[in-house]
Amino acid sequence: MSRVFARLSLAVAGLALLAGCGAGTPAAAHWAQPGTPSAAGPGSGSPGPSSPAPGTPSSSAPPAAAGALDLRAVSGKTIVIDPGHNGGNGAHPEIINQPVPMGTGTKACDTTGTETNSGYQEAAFTFDVATRLAALLKAAGAKVVMTRSDNTGVGPCVDKRAAIGNDAHANVAISIHGDGAPASGHGFHVMEPAKVGAPSDAIIVPSHQLALKIRDSYRARTGIPTSSYIGTNGINPRSDMAGLNLSVVPKVLVECGNMRNAGDAAFMTGTTGRQKIAEGLAGGLAAFLASVG
Ligand code: ZN
Repeated sequence: MSRVFARLSLAVAGLALLAGCGAGTPAAAHWAQPGTPSAAGPGSGSPGPSSPAPGTPSSSAPPAAAGALDLRAVSGKTIVIDPGHNGGNGAHPEIINQPVPMGTGTKACDTTGTETNSGYQEAAFTFDVATRLAALLKAAGAKVVMTRSDNTGVGPCVDKRAAIGNDAHANVAISIHGDGAPASGHGFHVMEPAKVGAPSDAIIVPSHQLALKIRDSYRARTGIPTSSYIGTNGINPRSDMAGLNLSVVPKVLVECGNMRNAGDAAFMTGTTGRQKIAEGLAGGLAAFLASVG
């Protein structure tokens, strides 16, 4: 479904034609150097016995090497996956610009999302990752509910996305996004609800635990470092996200990388990268569910 685009060579600073879903201030540094993005990352897809090669410390490896993906804890659980934005949003501003409740006021129904400099849209990225994640979780026995079933429609609005998780009485919910920050910034971050007098006040603590599990698994399985431009160690509490504020089930929003950064974009554009991203998210969800029983 997702179009295949020619590889970007080096980044040309692009204009942000579409609104990103997160904002940040720029920083520097590239992580896309030897050993990243398309080369085999930690684990390199070979589950095999966990036998760290003695005497070969991987100096630049992220903390905690990823072993075999253990998804046993998701069996029998209800998991809501929310792929951010939608492929038809851009053509329907009259719908996505309508104000909807956000727990502390109102907010636009949805936004178009961002895209890479080569035109790979965030909505396509999130839907592809969500589909891969759903397949992993279903295979492990989870009941999966998606907030949208294709990438050609409009919405649903962000308040509805939260309601879908609540109505499903989900054990856990996750929104998947890609950021559209200045090109010099790179890495991923996990948004968690901040305490703001919204329905999410009830799930602040488990959502933080979820954020930590997702961060650790994602970093280990993708090799993508935490964001260089926003948050603290990859964690970013937010008070202005309707999809988080309105959730009464543990929920986080993952900005999987900066689609305007050449290194992040190369990883996110490739199917190998997106599969690792899905595995990273799945591992974090399973770790969280294992920790809460
Ligand atoms: Zn987004």
